[in-house]
Amino acid sequence: MKKTIILLRYVSTKICLLAFLCWMGTLLQPIAAQTNVLVLTERGGQHEGFVSAALDWLEDFGKEHDFRFVELNQTEKIDSAYLSRFRVFLQLDYPPYNWTDTAKKAFEQAIFNGTIGWVGFHHATLLGDFDGFPLWRWFSDYMGGIRFQNYIAETASGRLEVEQPHHPVMRGVSRSFVLPHEEWYTFDRNPRGRVKVLAHVDESSYQPASDVRMGDHPAVWTNERMKARNVYFLMGHHADLLKSKDFTTMLGNALLWASGPGKWFPRFRMLVHYNKEVEKAHRDFALDAIRFLQDMTIGDGMVVDTTSNMADFNEERLRTYHLVVSLNDHPGHTEAQRRAFQAYMEHGGAWLGFHAAGYNDAGTGWPWYVDFLGGAVFHRNNWPPLPAKLTIDDPTHPVTKGMPSAFISPENEWYQWSPSPRLRKNVKVLVSLSPENYPLGFKDTVTDGDFPVVWTNTDYNMLYLNMGHGRRIFTDATQNYLFYNAIRWLMRKQFH
Ligand code: ZN
Repeated sequence: MKKTIILLRYVSTKICLLAFLCWMGTLLQPIAAQTNVLVLTERGGQHEGFVSAALDWLEDFGKEHDFRFVELNQTEKIDSAYLSRFRVFLQLDYPPYNWTDTAKKAFEQAIFNGTIGWVGFHHATLLGDFDGFPLWRWFSDYMGGIRFQNYIAETASGRLEVEQPHHPVMRGVSRSFVLPHEEWYTFDRNPRGRVKVLAHVDESSYQPASDVRMGDHPAVWTNERMKARNVYFLMGHHADLLKSKDFTTMLGNALLWASGPGKWFPRFRMLVHYNKEVEKAHRDFALDAIRFLQDMTIGDGMVVDTTSNMADFNEERLRTYHLVVSLNDHPGHTEAQRRAFQAYMEHGGAWLGFHAAGYNDAGTGWPWYVDFLGGAVFHRNNWPPLPAKLTIDDPTHPVTKGMPSAFISPENEWYQWSPSPRLRKNVKVLVSLSPENYPLGFKDTVTDGDFPVVWTNTDYNMLYLNMGHGRRIFTDATQNYLFYNAIRWLMRKQFH
């Protein structure tokens, strides 16, 4: 009797454990194994042959690799929540226009942050003014800063030459092969340099020959400046493409590669703006700063774009950057530019401002910006530019952590503020000019008063640094360390 009970207990424990494992298995298996792919297509029309042949091929591929394909024919459903259900966005046959604003924004963010992989064909570079829709600038940049120019209307076969045989998309693909009946789009400029070209088409191989040419003609490429794994194929016009083993190998490779995790690098993208029309010492600083920041991109850890075109201060462009850096000017001249910057900051953007970016007086006429700076209004400065002893106000803050409690900062024109931003509750001053410097200056002398140099308005992800005058700013390792900390802190969310 006793033995039976023990045996029963043993058996029931086993059964429970098995049942539990099975239950866990059913719970985990579909989530872990199946890859959901969103397929965006237009149906009907002259590309129907390609689309239906590709969908047939995908169905077989899906069975083999446990990929599930969900087809959409318009973008109304697409928002961030919807995209989060998919691992790959397959733009099989759909142009970069006639998208809802919500879909555009969600797509940009997913590619930007690498939460989805992307494989695009043919129509994805119909970039320009089509059917009454204006150019989607973000998408044009994504594809290498191009605009659609022309195509071979009667189609031609062409020979693809693989340039990156070791790229995962080209695994098992012939080094050189002919693809049939293609339109071979041309663009207003070559995307090479802004994107990594995996293959090009040899225009001299066109059958029949055609005058619609680009010279160097990229045909497969990836934008490595995005966190998303992404690849674009110029081809996608005719059903016969699916008869090419090399084409289907590339397609399968692309889907498998794009379904992998988002890339670690670049960690973030910054837009650095500067004004070329300001005083020489502020232009000199800007050029040094750009070199300093670009040196940090070694290894592609981050992307540094520079501009002196204030038209770049529009919402569509700003939201493609994690950080805006103002080297010697305000982040907005016109009302529209200023509103765009304010919206960018209010939606979680980050800003690093140097020296003249913070200068403001009665003529500035931008109350929001003065408030953003912590209410600091320019009061006076020393002259000539001089080194000064700076003291750390808060050694526990990530920006000043590890710094000596005081250091001599290289020659700068130091701005004193009235009112001082320190008076604001939402301002945290991190570095100040030591009163030991007084009197500071020969021509213009600062003799007294509070003198914050580095601070943050804690309502925003922002930091202002008063350094930024002349050619000596980046000559001190201690100060460079502070600059590095500042960027690292502003971009803290991008470091997991
Ligand atoms: Zn200055």
